[in-house]
Amino acid sequence: LAMYQAKERRDGRPARYDPSLHHDLLERVALESDLRRALVDQELEVHYQPTIVLESGAMVGVEALVRWPHPERGMVRPDLFIPIAEQTGMIHELGRQVLRRACAQGQEWAQLSPQTALTVAVNVSAKQLQRRDFVDEVREVLLESGFPAERLVLEMTESVLVHDAEATLDTLQALKAMGVRIAIDDFGTGYSSLSYLHRFPVDILKIDRSFVERLSGTEDEDNLVESIVQLGHTLRLETIAEGIEEADQIEALRRLGCQMAQGYHFGRPVPAQDLSHLIAPSLPQ
Ligand code: C2E
Ligand code: CA
Ligand code: CA
Ligand code: CA
Repeated sequence: LAMYQAKERRDGRPARYDPSLHHDLLERVALESDLRRALVDQELEVHYQPTIVLESGAMVGVEALVRWPHPERGMVRPDLFIPIAEQTGMIHELGRQVLRRACAQGQEWAQLSPQTALTVAVNVSAKQLQRRDFVDEVREVLLESGFPAERLVLEMTESVLVHDAEATLDTLQALKAMGVRIAIDDFGTGYSSLSYLHRFPVDILKIDRSFVERLSGTEDEDNLVESIVQLGHTLRLETIAEGIEEADQIEALRRLGCQMAQGYHFGRPVPAQDLSHLIAPSLPQ
């Protein structure tokens, strides 16, 4: 807080005083200190969205998505607080809490229903990967939860492959050696470079919702998704289409050879207990 105040008061007042900017800044400072407290008090929650196989409709995994039930503001969207966490370094603690919860939950489901073998995907920000001890942290969380490394997927965006490529390569190879799988999130929106994909031990491409949205059955629009799916086949990667909202998108994706999907059509992100009936149907709720 002191830092922001100092900046604003440097020579009396800002050259052009903009009350809305001032308001934004106060908002941000307030959110930042609330987030710090939420992390200390472990108030963040994790919701889970199903990943399904397009061919059969079977749920084979979930993606863990952080949620912040703020005492006054209601649910604060991750798009709002993840950037704050990244800029302030809180992302490390946040990421660790989400990873711990998600692996513990994955292991609980595994015990409820051993035959289901769900994968659990956790989003990892570039900042987390840059930390030297990230791999040790993942190893520790897997050990303490008992969740098998082979069923943990770490999702990251293409930008991590480009920046600091050498260090990232080491990190991903170490994760790979443990058995953890790597997914490239929002694929197609960043610096898609074939050479990067080739060089890194990537297992899964997640096709960004913006491409899936435009699936229309007209060739030009579908070609984009088709070429990503083809790329996946060529490099032996799984492809997951994100953001399926309409039934007709399913047909188009099947036709294009996409294997898996996520989206509101199949299920929104929900608290773990709301998925239990799908995972272990015979157990009482
Ligand atoms: P993402 O990883 O691309 O996650 C997918 C987002 O799309 C989620 O938003 C999900 O709720 C939403 N979504 C899923 N299906 C549909 C659909 O059919 N239609 C539409 N319109 N949206 C759909 P959410 O949960 O608000 O998360 C936003 C972003 O915040 C995530 O994008 C991810 O980048 C980040 N995020 C979420 N949880 C974490 C976390 O634990 N750690 C980090 N580092 N980032 C996270
Ligand atoms: Ca994701
Ligand atoms: Ca995504
Ligand atoms: Ca995203």
